[in-house]
Amino acid sequence: MSHSIPLNATHNPRARSWLESANQIDCDFPIQNLPFAVFRRRGAAEQFRGGVAIGDQIIDLAALARSDLFGATAGAAHAGAAQAAAGIRAGALPSLNALMQLGSQVLSAVRDALFESLLTGSPLQSGLQHCLVAQRDAEFSLPAQIGDYTDFYTSIYHATAVGRMLRPDQPLLPNYEWVPIGYHGRSSSIGVSQQCFRRPIGQRLPPGAGQPVVGPSRRLDYELELGVFVGEGNAAGAPIPMADAEAHVFGMCLLNDWSARDLQAWEYQPLGPFLAKNFATTVSPWIITLEALAPFRVPFVRPEGAPAPLPYLDSPGNRDAGAIDIRLEALIQSATMRERSEPPHCLSSTSYRHAFWTIGQLITHHTVNGCNLRAGDLLGTGTQSGPTPAEAGSLLELSRGGSRTIQIGANEFRTFLEDGDSVILRGWCEKSGAVRIGFGSAEGKVIEGSSPV
Ligand code: MN
Repeated sequence: MSHSIPLNATHNPRARSWLESANQIDCDFPIQNLPFAVFRRRGAAEQFRGGVAIGDQIIDLAALARSDLFGATAGAAHAGAAQAAAGIRAGALPSLNALMQLGSQVLSAVRDALFESLLTGSPLQSGLQHCLVAQRDAEFSLPAQIGDYTDFYTSIYHATAVGRMLRPDQPLLPNYEWVPIGYHGRSSSIGVSQQCFRRPIGQRLPPGAGQPVVGPSRRLDYELELGVFVGEGNAAGAPIPMADAEAHVFGMCLLNDWSARDLQAWEYQPLGPFLAKNFATTVSPWIITLEALAPFRVPFVRPEGAPAPLPYLDSPGNRDAGAIDIRLEALIQSATMRERSEPPHCLSSTSYRHAFWTIGQLITHHTVNGCNLRAGDLLGTGTQSGPTPAEAGSLLELSRGGSRTIQIGANEFRTFLEDGDSVILRGWCEKSGAVRIGFGSAEGKVIEGSSPV
């Protein structure tokens, strides 16, 4: 059984909205996208609530729930109306966990209902117009209460490049091609785009030194990743098979796993990342559903010579369409560039299609031991680096371990991040025969650390 979502009317590339900004070429949020976030009017004394992006606007799900536009009166006309109404009521809350837990059928019913009501000529246009808030007037919060956060390591190109710096003779450890490597991260320091954090302080071992020193990290880095929000959870002891895995995914966002490489190098053995990564993680406000991503699925292909996954991590659907062609890029803007109004500098770009493990495999592997995932849990894909060095998703790789400087502006160079630097992640999907959809952006800034301990 194929587990990828088939294309339907909501993917029609000719569909247009009565909201003109949604029909602009290069708009991130056309009627075929409809991603979710949690927002309120900036600075207003009002509750955060769920919203859906369309063009340059947000459909306020709390206002929509109050309007009863998809309630009793619409019930007769719409087969999925009861499910859609339940989903919209759940989406009106200050976090999306309740909507996430309702599962992929309800999510799809909400998408159908919103799509129909946004189409040119919809009789619901005037009612829905009263539920719009301009994105430029909004501020965002984390879209969910994230109970648990797991970060994986799904790019074999990243794993090999980093491994080569540590172990030139054996860059890739023998387990990599068999088990999706991950670690349990920390959810308390995950922030939404515009997150600002202090340079972390910690222990590092200076080259040639006999003992470590403590102080601000000198090798602060970003990691270009995608996040996967879990939808309906599973009971403890009830693993999710590959055929069902994607039905437990709510959607995807951009994720920057900020990393202090000098702290990491000293602390990572034998239990893996700890203080080098748990001081800040930045996600984009918008969560793109797997249904919106359906036109951009591509076959799951591994580099030549790599073994096939074990049977529990394999399925026909995963082979046919387990991967997704999500274009990704990372940009940097220094304090000087901001002062001079210089645009951000693009550090690298790649695609999520190169990942060695798919979303379905991450969900299935995470639960194979009986571990229970809960609605709102966040999985990181790990740094996404493509096959060539120019497609690397971190400064560690782009600077060859800090041995090479990168020009980012007229007179500015970097090996690692400096105070005042912003990193901006962007993502989008495009191909002929489909309407381009975007992820928006995830932006974060590092500022000077507090005084050394
Ligand atoms: Mn990471």
